Amino acid sequence: MEEMDVSTKSTRPWYQIPLEEVSHLLGTDAKRGLTQKEAMKRLDHTGKNQLAEGKKVPLYAVFFNQFKDFMVAILLIATIISFFLGEYLDAITIIAIIFINGILGFIQEARAERSLQALKELASPMARVIRDGKLDMIPASQLVPGDLVLLEAGDRVPADLRVIESNRLEVEESALTGESVPVAKTEKTITADGKQIPLGDQKNLGFMGTMVTGGTGRGIVTTTGMATEIGKIAHLINEADEVQTPLQMRLEQLGKILVIVALVITIVVIVAGVMHGQELMTMFLAGVSLAVAAIPEGLPAIVTIALALGVQRMIRRNAIVRKLPSVETLGCASVICSDKTGTLTQNKMTVTHLWHSDTVFEVTGSGYQPVGQVKAHGKEVHVGRDVVLCRLLQISERCNNAQLVCEQESGQTRMVSTKSASNWRVLGDPTEGALLVLAAKGKNQFTGKQNPFSGLERVDELPFDSERKMMSVIDRSAEGQLYLLTKGAVEALIHRCTHILWKGEVIPLTARLRNTVLDKTEDMARQALRVLGFAYKPLQEYQKGQSHLTLENGLIFVGMTGMIDPPREEVAPAIALCRQAGIKTVMITGDHKITAEAIARRIGLLRGLTGVLEGRELNEMSDEELAACVENISVYARVSPEHKLRIIRALQSRGHVVAMTGDGVNDAPAIKSADIGIAMGITGTDVTKEAADLVLRDDNFTTIVAAVEEGRNIYDNIRKFIRYLLASNVGEILVMFFAMMMGMPLPLVPIQILWVNLVTDGLPAMALGIDPAERDTMYHQPRSKHENIFGRRLGWKIISRGFLIGVMTLVAFWLTLNEDSSNLTHAQTVAFTTLVMAQLIHVFDCRSEHSVFHRNPFENRYLVWAVLSSLALVLCVIYIDLLQPIFKTMPLSFRDWALVLVAAGVPTFVAGIGGALRSNYVDASTAKRQGVAR
Ligand code: ATP
Repeated sequence: MEEMDVSTKSTRPWYQIPLEEVSHLLGTDAKRGLTQKEAMKRLDHTGKNQLAEGKKVPLYAVFFNQFKDFMVAILLIATIISFFLGEYLDAITIIAIIFINGILGFIQEARAERSLQALKELASPMARVIRDGKLDMIPASQLVPGDLVLLEAGDRVPADLRVIESNRLEVEESALTGESVPVAKTEKTITADGKQIPLGDQKNLGFMGTMVTGGTGRGIVTTTGMATEIGKIAHLINEADEVQTPLQMRLEQLGKILVIVALVITIVVIVAGVMHGQELMTMFLAGVSLAVAAIPEGLPAIVTIALALGVQRMIRRNAIVRKLPSVETLGCASVICSDKTGTLTQNKMTVTHLWHSDTVFEVTGSGYQPVGQVKAHGKEVHVGRDVVLCRLLQISERCNNAQLVCEQESGQTRMVSTKSASNWRVLGDPTEGALLVLAAKGKNQFTGKQNPFSGLERVDELPFDSERKMMSVIDRSAEGQLYLLTKGAVEALIHRCTHILWKGEVIPLTARLRNTVLDKTEDMARQALRVLGFAYKPLQEYQKGQSHLTLENGLIFVGMTGMIDPPREEVAPAIALCRQAGIKTVMITGDHKITAEAIARRIGLLRGLTGVLEGRELNEMSDEELAACVENISVYARVSPEHKLRIIRALQSRGHVVAMTGDGVNDAPAIKSADIGIAMGITGTDVTKEAADLVLRDDNFTTIVAAVEEGRNIYDNIRKFIRYLLASNVGEILVMFFAMMMGMPLPLVPIQILWVNLVTDGLPAMALGIDPAERDTMYHQPRSKHENIFGRRLGWKIISRGFLIGVMTLVAFWLTLNEDSSNLTHAQTVAFTTLVMAQLIHVFDCRSEHSVFHRNPFENRYLVWAVLSSLALVLCVIYIDLLQPIFKTMPLSFRDWALVLVAAGVPTFVAGIGGALRSNYVDASTAKRQGVAR
């Protein structure tokens, strides 16, 4: 990828160039960014901002890999020998079948690869960019030199950039420099007297792929894609991301065992056949064909397809799986720990109450439209006449990084000054958005110069973090007076205040007044309101970079706001569903205990003996004490991110498989150590998304439940086709094995064996991989993480069904041969058709863990089509004259078909009745047990 002209105009390195010159050289505006049109033009020129992919396996190699299998190679050699022995037709047909099988395998693998690729693209990072003066979220791959990007803690730096504003911006650059201590970034130009300085010291540059660990900032993109510093070393870091799931690994081992078993049986079959007078070459070819048919070589590809397609179903339900192995773990989840704000609630905040100087105010209006009034005792209040209220609204507006925009019909956005009632939207934190709306409602009472909030200018910011639970800004008034304006959790804030603005006067904050404030906070929280406190202090002087420990002290408390964040409507039924599925839901929140409890009750999370624990109490508990009570806690309130780790460990120590959500930068360790780490797609940071196994596109709790359901279904489907493929193979092996041991003629010729394998193993097995879930998927306890794939009677089902298929095929063969022992082709055609039909009927049995009668057989239309096409392929080789000599078949009569269908139906029918009886018995005894329990 070539570098942009703009970045080569200067011969000096970017860190030596003064800010004004940077924007000039890059042809951009440091406030409004590029225009959309210019950005598009540049994108055409520079290409996408992404690193080149590692080497891919070319398609032809995938194709030839299909024939690398040991048994297939032996079969090819055997076929070539038979060709030279004069069996031309046989040899060519066998090679053709192997070829078709290879194509099928190739299609399966290519499809699996394509789906995996699509998943990777979905998880690609986003960047916040200002174009045409407007903030927008775009895929990082669309960035071009000159773009103005915003950075905050948790972001990956999306391209190489020159920092133009740093509010304690800290970046961890170990990916490039190996140094894991974060570097404090500055906008200051570095004069290095023309000397080159190392990357780690280029403190006014940000490098693509490094991680923002603290603060906020802005930068202008200087280079993108492969021209960036990381791009230059990209070939060193192209990681191998072919991850196999534990199940895939176990199946690979199983495959090896099956090869050995099939080989042993093949040798026994060959030896027994030859001893009973069969020709060596015929037996050799039959034996090797049998081995090829018996080894389920398609299994790994079908597992990948089932996983990948399942994952795509999850995407349709808004869950993006980042790590394939977690699909299996999802089905085992026994606890879901969820954040409250935005996940269980709507994150559509509206301030409804205010409090100061012992007066409660109500705020009317709903949503983000800034239309409403502030009322006290039912009457509208004039904000301008209440200095405390004015100060509170001023802090709401100034100590705020969100933007309120109004989307017009044309799609254009305008800033807050407009009063149009159309679509209002908040860019940034919804809590802050709600405060902007509140300020705007108050401001509506003023015009022009009267506006009491105007005239302040931001000097610096102490960004919000969930440990401190507050945020401050330093503002300068038109007269040059500096102010620290702070908002945050009341309990945290009140301890940093020494005074209070009470009825217009600043008075000392006595213990009594502090208790009044805290009592009022609880009052508001009890109404499920999210409560935020506001404080300020004038500053004599301010030095950039001063710590929050020295600044956020000796504050003057102003008042509080209470905002509602209604629970998502769909959450209560989802929690009930989890309970039914044996999954415990736990709410973890930084919010007030009483607010959390009120919301938890509304969504049916708190019932009976389960309780609420606060971060403070958690601090006092040992790990053992926590583990002892963890089963009884459903809500953790006022917790910090590091508490999440302890909660996960406590749950895991009780044998739980834990799914845990997180959004902030500090949540990454918890997300990593959870069995299933879940990040928020909308509000989550890049760091959490990268650490996560699952990303929720809509931040919604119900999406987690949907993903768990899909996770269970995917695993069930894998069990279904393993059962189908292996039972079919057991049937194929046994029919040959029994016939040879009993000294019968060959029931199937090699080509027939290969054809059975082709028509039954391919499409029907794939269709089982995308079978819809059984009705009771979410009605039983999660399976154990250590469950064997053959557990819950799967091994028995495979052997018993396989045995019945083998025996019934042999019976049909024997009966036909008994009628006319001179016509071996007739008996072989009956055996061949019975074997295929038995498998095509058995495939419907595999759809249910209970019995074939449990489900509507036509529900999965892919399966119906797969079975019909397999049937057509069998009919072709029986009834098309041209194919009969090749496949050693002959047309079957109605009588033959009657025998075929009865023999083929018996295995499934017998097993079905057995399954239905057992299922009824289990249902009845479960009902009895539950009855007793109740
Ligand atoms: P959850 O953990 O469920 O997402 P939360 O959003 O309340 O809940 P945090 O983001 O950790 O959790 O916030 C903790 C507390 O910090 C909040 O209850 C609130 O009092 C305060 N707070 C939240 N956002 C801000 C903000 N932007 N500025 C100042 N204080 C805030």
